[in-house]
Amino acid sequence: MKRVLFGILGLALLATALGVVFQTYLARALYERRVDRQMSLERLSELPAGLHLAFCGTGSPLPDPSRAPSCAVVIAGDRLFVVDSGAGSAGNLLLMGIPAGQIEAVLLTHFHSDHIGGLGDLALQRWIGLGHTEPLPVMGPQGVETIIAGFNQAYAMDATYRTGHHGEAIAPPSGFGMEAQAFEIAGSDQTAPVKLLENGGLTIWAVAVDHAPASPAVAYRFDYQGRSLVMSGDLAADTSPGFQALAAGADLLVIEALQPRLLDIINDGARRRGNERLDTIMVDIRDYHTTPEQAAAAASAAQAQTLVLNHIVPALPSRSLHPAFLGNAATAFTGPIRIAEDGMVVSLVAGGDDATFLSWR
Ligand SMILES: [Zn+2]
Ligand SMILES: [Zn+2]
Repeated sequence: MKRVLFGILGLALLATALGVVFQTYLARALYERRVDRQMSLERLSELPAGLHLAFCGTGSPLPDPSRAPSCAVVIAGDRLFVVDSGAGSAGNLLLMGIPAGQIEAVLLTHFHSDHIGGLGDLALQRWIGLGHTEPLPVMGPQGVETIIAGFNQAYAMDATYRTGHHGEAIAPPSGFGMEAQAFEIAGSDQTAPVKLLENGGLTIWAVAVDHAPASPAVAYRFDYQGRSLVMSGDLAADTSPGFQALAAGADLLVIEALQPRLLDIINDGARRRGNERLDTIMVDIRDYHTTPEQAAAAASAAQAQTLVLNHIVPALPSRSLHPAFLGNAATAFTGPIRIAEDGMVVSLVAGGDDATFLSWR
């Protein structure tokens, strides 16, 4: 009897040991496959000719486990421009298979923390990604110099560690950090867009928008190979006349969106718990953002082809909340309306007249 029990115990121990070995082997094999897949991503070369937009951050300052704060990459041929860089978005960009080393410049819409918090990481990834010998250009309205000087100071020690550890061939000291390129922009009551860049068939425009007291604040437009896209940044669309001028006839209109009826639920919860601070903040944020319905009306007035809602407030823990978030938007705009997600890519193929959606997650 004793011998049988020892035999069973021995078999059980052997099975457990084999299970552990198998699990370890399997985990390692899966990890190798994942690393190989990540390293072999050739996302840019897979895109057809045209203008494309990849979302590396579609959230806001409100915590959201599925959305980093603001970040989008405009892809025009082999040129990459990043619009805003919220905390954590540089990692998203790399996970999407976008080569940070190829970033030509960053464009900032305004200087709220959820639009600039990832700049340090982004500049580091771009520097190390290709061993750049020049800092990363960061374009923005007046004030961008102050932001960039602060980041450069904060990351100066990190830069010496990187060069010290990897050597000057990998981390050339002259390529560290960012270089501010400020442009002048008139007040948000002005309607005329300003041309920032025109070369290689690409044109970039900016116009002032109303996001007071966050001022200056701008929206951007990109035109390339007959296709066009507009990124709103944060704004109150109804009091931003220049935005309508910028958005006119855009193939793709990306507008930030806040749904007050869902925010009401947070306000109700805060009031029930006597949390006056949260209640006040959730009321304050409404007056300098745009509702999905207002965004849809702006898209309709601009005769845009496709509308994507971005900078999603409040956080949506499930896609089942999308109809509640959209509200009555579809009655104001009859074209396609999508809610942006991290990893989403919108493709405006040259010669086409619609938008196609991909996922790079
Ligand atoms: Zn924001
Ligand atoms: Zn803002």
